[in-house]
Amino acid sequence: MPRHIYDEDHEAVRASARAFVARTLAPRAQEMIEIKSIPREVWKEAGKQGLFGFDIPEQFGGAGVDDYRFNAVVSEEMSRFNAATSSCFGIHSDVCPPYIVDLGTEEQKQRWLPGMASGDLICAIAMTEPSGGSDLAALKTTAVRAGEGWVLNGSKTFITNGYQADLVIVAARTDPARGAKGITLFLVERGMPGFANGRKLDKVGMPESDTAELFFDNVRVPDENRLGPEGGGFVAMMQRLPQERVGAAVSNVAHAKAILEETIDYAKERKAFGQPIGAFQHNKFLLAELVTKIEVAEAFVDDCVLAHAARKLSAVDAAKAKWWSSQVQNEVLDHCVQLHGGYGFMNEYRVARAWRDARVTKIWAGSNEIMKELIGRDLGL
Ligand SMILES: Cc1cc2nc3c(=O)[nH]c(=O)nc-3n(C[C@H](O)[C@H](O)[C@H](O)COP(=O)(O)OP(=O)(O)OC[C@H]3O[C@@H](n4cnc5c(N)ncnc54)[C@H](O)[C@@H]3O)c2cc1C
Repeated sequence: MPRHIYDEDHEAVRASARAFVARTLAPRAQEMIEIKSIPREVWKEAGKQGLFGFDIPEQFGGAGVDDYRFNAVVSEEMSRFNAATSSCFGIHSDVCPPYIVDLGTEEQKQRWLPGMASGDLICAIAMTEPSGGSDLAALKTTAVRAGEGWVLNGSKTFITNGYQADLVIVAARTDPARGAKGITLFLVERGMPGFANGRKLDKVGMPESDTAELFFDNVRVPDENRLGPEGGGFVAMMQRLPQERVGAAVSNVAHAKAILEETIDYAKERKAFGQPIGAFQHNKFLLAELVTKIEVAEAFVDDCVLAHAARKLSAVDAAKAKWWSSQVQNEVLDHCVQLHGGYGFMNEYRVARAWRDARVTKIWAGSNEIMKELIGRDLGL
């Protein structure tokens, strides 16, 4: 089905992202699996190519285009390469900047946004803790006032870009008595005494993304590094999670769609009983169903992208896009593995890696159960 949300400017950015994948990412695909991260020079090259910072105003080094569709086309192209790059770049370039652009002081913007746009400074956002991620209001990391600043104690886990991050947006409890209203955001910088990145976590999939624990042991954070008002952290996160969720949905659909296209080619070439496996009615019908599911999911996600670009996307629609797209992605990729037979279980095949990579999309950015909770609440239940 023809898509109608992108014009030639978006397609030009898509072409440039696709060229970046072919030139810079693809030759290093295996290396990134081995080192479990994206090398710094790749981040810088992406910045140089203008793939970061669409949300960052021009005076701070970004494109300042204020049109989420540009973020979305880049995310689609990264997902077609692999899900990990889409996730790492997405956190850095789509999820983190709006926090600083919307909530930051002039000094904070001047200090950090140019480096984020250029890829010289890698950013992460740390909400989840070992004791739980779904119930964000219950987070335990504390920030206590000390003189002109704050002292942070606690830990975070599963943080994307956490190992390499130069700057981390950290949610901490500043008032134990006020529940969700007692949470404040801080910008914690690499090298601050007492701040340590743990090991790169050993994941089932997405080996190329660095996912780490973070530890805060009496980290002194100046008040200039407080992001937004004291007690405003929870609301700030709730307001910006829809962007993270629509971004996840874009990535989920593009990722599964790319592998499905490759699987259709495979089904035309691979023969059994003297005919292409795609010619068996079972497989033909299956592929017809999968293509339909992807296109229907894509149409809903496209509408969410348009709504978000117009600043009209509701938290509930973002939740629907996130859970549904991840469900479809996982279903499609599971069938794609099956259609590849034994090769589908071999790590050297993209389909096998994509299948493992996809599993997390039902868990992160708010688990699918939490998405259904949000949708159910909206139904008045
Ligand atoms: C690879 C990876 C990268 C990540 N990146 C980041 C990141 O960059 N920053 C960050 O802050 N976090 C990140 N996360 C954390 C992620 O957002 C959390 O894992 C997720 O929110 C779930 O939290 P949890 O793991 O603590 O599970 P829990 O909250 O302990 O939930 C466990 C199970 O209980 C279910 N559950 C919980 N509450 C309810 C309920 N009310 N109703 C029904 N079921 C419920 C959940 O759906 C889940 O199935 C990442 C996670 C992974 C795996």
